Amino acid sequence: MAILPTSCNLCPRACGANRAAGERGVCGAGADLRIARAALHEWEEPPISVGAGSGAVFFSNCPLRCVYCQNAQIACGHQGTAISEERLTDIFFELAGQGAANINLVTPGHYLPQIAVAVAAARERGFDLPLVFNTSSFERAEVLRTYRDCADVYLADFKYWMSPASDAAARYSHAADYFDVATRALDTMVDLAGSPRFDSFGGEERIVGGVVVRHLLLPGRVEESKKVMSFLWHRYGTSVLYSVMNQYTPLRAFPEAPELDAPVPNEDYERLLDALDDLGMTDYFWQEGAAAKESFIPAFDSTGVLPKDEA
Ligand code: SF4
Repeated sequence: MAILPTSCNLCPRACGANRAAGERGVCGAGADLRIARAALHEWEEPPISVGAGSGAVFFSNCPLRCVYCQNAQIACGHQGTAISEERLTDIFFELAGQGAANINLVTPGHYLPQIAVAVAAARERGFDLPLVFNTSSFERAEVLRTYRDCADVYLADFKYWMSPASDAAARYSHAADYFDVATRALDTMVDLAGSPRFDSFGGEERIVGGVVVRHLLLPGRVEESKKVMSFLWHRYGTSVLYSVMNQYTPLRAFPEAPELDAPVPNEDYERLLDALDDLGMTDYFWQEGAAAKESFIPAFDSTGVLPKDEA
């Protein structure tokens, strides 16, 4: 059984919650391990959603809580069921039995002590699918190192240009230090996971190690996105894979940030992709315009969370 922190500093908020006693932190997590969905997921990047799909486990609550979050129902803790570490191990095997190409741990950072126990138990039982650590990159480098066994592949956001040149991190995620934190985290992920490596899964190319860096273009931020991508390319070059996304979907009105009320114009996305060409980037994942749809957001209806005879 996992030992939970009595003064939590698992994430950069370092809010000091006594998780062992059930106190909830800024992220919303307490002593329970909570998940909202465990199912095959087809919409990740091609070498991740291979074959039947990625075996996505969506964890409830989140330390970053971006105001525009596409998964706000779970990020803010409104959806989710408490499960045991043993149940999480069983879920890994159930997803593998459904043909999953990997286990995709979606926003796992605040539950790492419990996830590590579940992963260790699964590995002891011979579980051999790659683990994808799907993260906002708002992570402490030391914590990533401690829990390195929970990741073969890092699927890592890099969201914002640096503060105070950009106000996005402070206004949208209450994390003015995001750029510095995410840079340290990404340096660590590249160090831990190495260059991208692939095998064949049912005849398709599957990533089994390395880092995929994602950047989501936000409304009105194309010039900042160009700076982010230039920074990433000059720092990491071909040692990581890149995914440039246009799937931003305004799911509510934003009186505090009205510029977020509209989808990203296609022309802005084209301008960003042109800038990548100018940088000399020739190989990256990009999305068709149709990606910006609510239908790409999974139903957080507890699918796969409980054993069949209890669901
Ligand atoms: S993971 Fe949650 S409880 Fe722990 S420091 Fe971060 S916000 Fe606080």
